Amino acid sequence: MRLGNLEGRAALVSGGGQLDVEEASGGRFGPDLMTVLDDWAAFRAWTVTASGTWRDFDQGLLGPPVPAPRQVFAVAVNYRDHAAEASIELPEHPLVFTKFPSCITGPFSPVLLPTERADWEVELVVVIGRRCHRVQESEAWDAVAGLTIGQDISERRIQFRKPFPHFSIAKSLPTFGPIGPVLVTPDEMAERDDLEITCQVNGELMQSSRTSNLVFSVPQLIAELSSAVLLMPGDLIFTGTPSGVGSSRDPRRYLRPGDVIESSVEGIGAMRNTCEVVG
Ligand code: ZN
Repeated sequence: MRLGNLEGRAALVSGGGQLDVEEASGGRFGPDLMTVLDDWAAFRAWTVTASGTWRDFDQGLLGPPVPAPRQVFAVAVNYRDHAAEASIELPEHPLVFTKFPSCITGPFSPVLLPTERADWEVELVVVIGRRCHRVQESEAWDAVAGLTIGQDISERRIQFRKPFPHFSIAKSLPTFGPIGPVLVTPDEMAERDDLEITCQVNGELMQSSRTSNLVFSVPQLIAELSSAVLLMPGDLIFTGTPSGVGSSRDPRRYLRPGDVIESSVEGIGAMRNTCEVVG
């Protein structure tokens, strides 16, 4: 099942068409995406037999599939190759920070550049489907509503301030968290733990890996996070970025006005975000 956000309304998306959730469910679910996520088990049961009028729609109108998450977790150095390019030893536990929810934006929305040190990081993003605490690794996928794509846009000058790094602030500027284009349930994926992930800037391939290269897998991340923190429906986990970010290239490369960032994950689709100067 693929769930999209069409101008603030939850919609099932399939083969170029969309089914408005509130209309098709007679008002039982939607239109707000967050209320759909809060009632996820019942919503999933309803989607099995959902029917109604499927309509054509413009992909460019899709907003973030989770527009107002309560919590947004992100994981640093979670691909071996990215740890190597950043000269960082692999951690024993996931290194977690937050992207404050006000940074979330749509899959085709502009990324606003306040400085000349903004960088790209394509990531697989997990959307939590139920309230849960102390989840076993073996049951972690049951706590997942779906997967989507994210860009963990990062302002490197703030991030690497001395003497301590400022991850959460540097990665939470307005528009620094594009997600989408849709939420896809894991049952749609043949190999949910092994998905191709890529990032292109102006058509040039910058990042290319597979999610099977994660240091901490999706189930391990959910088990580790929930061993401490209460997880809630709609919470996002940005699972980390593979190698190829701009600040690790030689010469270093940062995002410029007019740059087009295309982010893809196998089985989900692609986002396309254009960089603009803050007006
Ligand atoms: Zn990241």
